[in-house]
Amino acid sequence: MALVDAYGPATSRASSGGETRVTRMGYGPDEVYTRWSWKSLEQWKALSARAGGVPLFQETGVLWMAHEEDPRSRATLEVLARVGVPTSASTAPSSRSDGGRSISATSPGGSTSPAAAR
Ligand SMILES: Cc1cc2nc3c(=O)[nH]c(=O)nc-3n(C[C@H](O)[C@H](O)[C@H](O)COP(=O)(O)OP(=O)(O)OC[C@H]3O[C@@H](n4cnc5c(N)ncnc54)[C@H](O)[C@@H]3O)c2cc1C
Repeated sequence: MALVDAYGPATSRASSGGETRVTRMGYGPDEVYTRWSWKSLEQWKALSARAGGVPLFQETGVLWMAHEEDPRSRATLEVLARVGVPTSASTAPSSRSDGGRSISATSPGGSTSPAAAR
């Protein structure tokens, strides 16, 4: 296979350029992306394990903050639950009167970051 690139490999003109990338599973109601991301995560981990040395994949978790009635966040939670991606949701203790709510999506290993979600 020959790859041809106008600017050579790892060029800063490529949108994939850069040292880090985030992988996420929340795509609102677009379940197919959630399923693809969920499936690819194990492959990223396997690649990272095969590479040895400095891990390619760093598991950090994510804290997602949204309004309770935000339709995209609600759809995201529904899809994550349907696909089996571990999540936890909690209402943030705040003085806000508009019902601020936080959603914490967890890793597939189920290791949540409850401290971050509070
Ligand atoms: C700032 C930024 C942050 C992002 N962060 C994330 C993230 O955290 N997680 C995530 O999943 N996605 C992220 N994305 C999106 C993701 O990077 C892109 O969707 C993905 O990299 C696209 O890959 P690609 O190979 O299609 O395109 P590219 O990586 O852009 O590659 C296109 C290549 O085509 C070459 N080219 C252009 N014109 C020609 C030509 N005429 N002849 C020959 N070669 C040509 C370019 O030089 C380039 O190397 C981010 C994008 C940006 C811009």
